[in-house]
Amino acid sequence: MARRNFVAGNWKENLLTSEAADLLAELLPLVQNINDADIAVCPTYLSIATVRERVKGTNIQLGAQNAHAVEKDGKLIQSGAYTGEVSPAMIKDAGCQWVILGHSERRQYFGETDEGVNVKVRACYEVGLKPIICVGETLEERDGGETLSVVDRQVRACLKDLPADRVKDSVIAYEPVWAIGTGRTATPEQAQEVHGAIRALLRELFGDATADVVRIQYGGSMKPGNAKELLAQPDIDGGLIGGAALKAADFAAIIEAARG
Ligand code: PEP
Repeated sequence: MARRNFVAGNWKENLLTSEAADLLAELLPLVQNINDADIAVCPTYLSIATVRERVKGTNIQLGAQNAHAVEKDGKLIQSGAYTGEVSPAMIKDAGCQWVILGHSERRQYFGETDEGVNVKVRACYEVGLKPIICVGETLEERDGGETLSVVDRQVRACLKDLPADRVKDSVIAYEPVWAIGTGRTATPEQAQEVHGAIRALLRELFGDATADVVRIQYGGSMKPGNAKELLAQPDIDGGLIGGAALKAADFAAIIEAARG
């Protein structure tokens, strides 16, 4: 089953709006003719409007880095007294197709849990916003031989109560925590082992038609020098890119490696 690779740049808490515009001005000519891989950038909330104008009519899609959602009395809340927060409905309204959810930095620094991510995922589906759901083990968990059980638990919990036809629209990003921003990358074999296990779990939970189309990105120090061999693995369908997405030439080179 051929899936189209999807490369998304997570700009994190980087780039003033003018710098985001400059980065895009550099990136656009490098990738404008690429029509055999999907591309997205995920700026801070404050740069979304500017980036939306710059990517309009191009092959670059837009995403946010987080969303807020709570569930009250069985109802998903998209607005209310939650100072400082931004809901999936607002992110969709701002022109985003995507939102990153459950990034390990959010889990580590802001106490996010799989259950909380699940509420966010369901709130996104309610408004037609597509989630990039991040999972991955810590170094301690890998060293303890728990990688597959941790990722299994995360995927099950994040996708709980979702119908298969909705899961089809989501992307899973496998991001070993020990590889994020550290310069350490999972070997293609280590990454494929986990991607294959995630695909098998999707098959068990949602059936073949869904498991065959969900894209599973790899994230964790992916760069031009290692992208090709990671992306050659059968269950790696793109990348979620942090540091290398802040350099137009590096991001473009990774996208080039992801072409069909
Ligand atoms: C990330 O934070 O999603 C990520 C993959 O970062 P980096 O590429 O810098 O490791």
